[in-house]
Amino acid sequence: MPNINKLTVENVAHMLERRGLLSKEQLKDVLVRGKDQELRLYAQHHSGASRRSHAGAETVSPAEVIASFNLVIPSTAGQLLSEDTVTEALAAVTGLPYFKIDPLRLKLDVVTEHIPRPFALKNMIVAVDESDGVITVAVADPFNETIVSGLASARRLEIRRVLSSKSDIMKILREFYGFRASVVAAEAEATSSVDLGNLEQFFKIKGQHETIEGTDKHVVSAVDFLLNYSFDQHASDIHIEPKRETALIRFRIDGVMHNIHVIPKQLHAPIVSRIKMLSRMDLAEKRRPQDGRIKTNFNNKDIELRVSTVPVAFGEKVVIRVFDPDILLQDLDSMGFYSREMALYNSFLRRPNGIILVTGPTGSGKTTTLYSSLRSLSSPEVNIVTVEDPIEMVMEEFNQIGVQQAIGVGFDSILRNILRQDPDIIMIGEIRDRETAENAVQAALTGHLVLSTLHTNDAVSTIIRLLDLGVPPFLISATVLGIVAQRLVRKICPDCKTARILTREECDYLQLPQIKHTVWEGEGCKKCRGTGYKGRSGLFEVLDINENMKALISGSAELSRIAAAARQDGLVSLREVAIKKMLEGSTTYEEVISMTG
Ligand SMILES: [Zn+2]
Repeated sequence: MPNINKLTVENVAHMLERRGLLSKEQLKDVLVRGKDQELRLYAQHHSGASRRSHAGAETVSPAEVIASFNLVIPSTAGQLLSEDTVTEALAAVTGLPYFKIDPLRLKLDVVTEHIPRPFALKNMIVAVDESDGVITVAVADPFNETIVSGLASARRLEIRRVLSSKSDIMKILREFYGFRASVVAAEAEATSSVDLGNLEQFFKIKGQHETIEGTDKHVVSAVDFLLNYSFDQHASDIHIEPKRETALIRFRIDGVMHNIHVIPKQLHAPIVSRIKMLSRMDLAEKRRPQDGRIKTNFNNKDIELRVSTVPVAFGEKVVIRVFDPDILLQDLDSMGFYSREMALYNSFLRRPNGIILVTGPTGSGKTTTLYSSLRSLSSPEVNIVTVEDPIEMVMEEFNQIGVQQAIGVGFDSILRNILRQDPDIIMIGEIRDRETAENAVQAALTGHLVLSTLHTNDAVSTIIRLLDLGVPPFLISATVLGIVAQRLVRKICPDCKTARILTREECDYLQLPQIKHTVWEGEGCKKCRGTGYKGRSGLFEVLDINENMKALISGSAELSRIAAAARQDGLVSLREVAIKKMLEGSTTYEEVISMTG
C-alpha cells in the first residue's frame, strides 16, 4: 500500500478510499471537484465575514476540503465524513497520535508561552499540554516535521507531536492568543495593583482606571474575545468573579460550570466597566445590583446577552446569560414533540381565541416553547404583544413590554392597557396572581389568543391551580384550549453511546414489564467532555380541553375524574414520554429518574 508523504486533497482522498472511508464514486467526485471547492473555501475564509482572519495562516487544509463535501461514510447509517474523521485517519497512517482539542482543558499559559504567536499562526501549530518538561504540540500537517524540530532545538524544548484538525488549531490560536495579548497589554497599562482595603491607594488607582476603564482598546478586545469564545463554546452563562488577588472567568456549558481563565485583579474592574458600558448600565454605580442587556452578532446571527452585576466581597460580580436564537428559537418540530402531541398543540395555536398554557418548573424550557410558538404565528398581519418579567429576548417581530414591579407597572396594569392597542395574540410571561389570571381570561373572551405559563407539575393539576387563583370553573372551560406540561432531558452523546439492559430493580422502579429492555448511555468522550450527554430535548404532555373535558370542569368534577377522562382521551404522561425517549435511546435511565423524581 503506497503511503502518502505530502498533504494534498488528492493524496488524502486516495488514503481515505483505501481505508474504506470513501467509496470509489465519492473518491472520483472529490478528485473532480476538489480544486474548485478548495478555492471556494479559501475565498470564504478571506471574505469580510470572518472578522479576525490572519493573512497567510488561513490556507485551506485537505481535511477541510473533503469534509465540506458532506459525504456519507460508506456502510454507516448516515455518518458524515467530518474533518475530525479525516484527521483521525491521517493520524493512523502517519503514526502520530490523534488529539481532539478540548479548549476547556487547555491552559492559557501553556498555549501562549512556548510558541510565539506569529510562528504558531504561520505553521498552524499549538502547544496543548506540558508535563514533566515535555511539551505536546498539536500540528495540522503531519509531514512538516522540520518546523517542530526546528522549534525544539531553537527553544531547547522537548516536544511531542500530535495531530489535530486545522479548524480546531486555528480556533485555539485565535481565542487564546487574542485574549492573552489583550490581557497582557491592558495589564501593562494598569501598572499598580488594586487594593480596595487601602483608601489612599484606591483613589490613586481610580485615577488610573479612568484612563483604561472600559474604553482602552486592549480591554475592548479582551471582552470581544471572551464573548466570541463563549458563543463558540455554546456557553449559556458567563461568570466574572472577583477574588482577593485575581478574578475568575467561568462558563456554564450544558448545565455544568467550567473554569476558563484566571485574570489579573487589576483587569477585573476595567473588564467589568466595559461590559457595563456595553449593557448601558451606570458605570459609577458599584454598590447596587444592576441589570442590562447587550445585543451582538456572531456568525451572522443576533445574540442577546442579559447582564447582571452584584457587589460581592472583592468587587462586582458579573453574570451574563447568553440567549442564542438557535437554542431559544427552535422550530416547533425539532423540540421533541411526538406526533400526537405536536398535532394537538398546533391545533391550539390555530384557534383564533382562547388560552394556551405551558407549565413546568423553572428551567423546563417553557420560554423556548412560547417564543417558538409566537415565531410560528408571526406574520405582518398579526399584532403580537408580549408582557414579560423580564423580557427574555428582544424580538423585532413582537411588541414586547417589560413588567416593572418597582414602579408599580405589573402584569395586570399592562394587560389592561394593551387590550386597547388591538393585539391579536398576547403572550403573558407568567400567570402568578388572581389579577393576571382575570386579565388573561378577559382577553381570551374578547377574541384574543393568549399564551402563558404557570408553575405546575402536570397538565391536569394546572386546572386546580387556576381554580386556586380564583378563576371560576365555567370561565376555565370557556377559555382554556389546552395545557402543555413540559420538561427538558439531556440527550445521550451520539459519539460514545453504549447499550445495556435495564436491571430488574430499574424495571420495577419504572413499572415496566420484566423483560429485557435495552437502554443506552454515554460512556463519556472528548466530544461530550466526558459527560456522556450532548444537547437537550423537550418532553411534552398535552391536555386537550375538548367538549367532554369542558363539561367535567364546569361541573366541578374531582381531579381524579378529570385525570381519568384525560387518559381515556389518550393523554400520555410526562413519565411515559420520558420512558419512551429512554427506550428509543435518546436519553438515559438516570435522566428519566431525575426528571420524574
Ligand atoms: Zn460522548
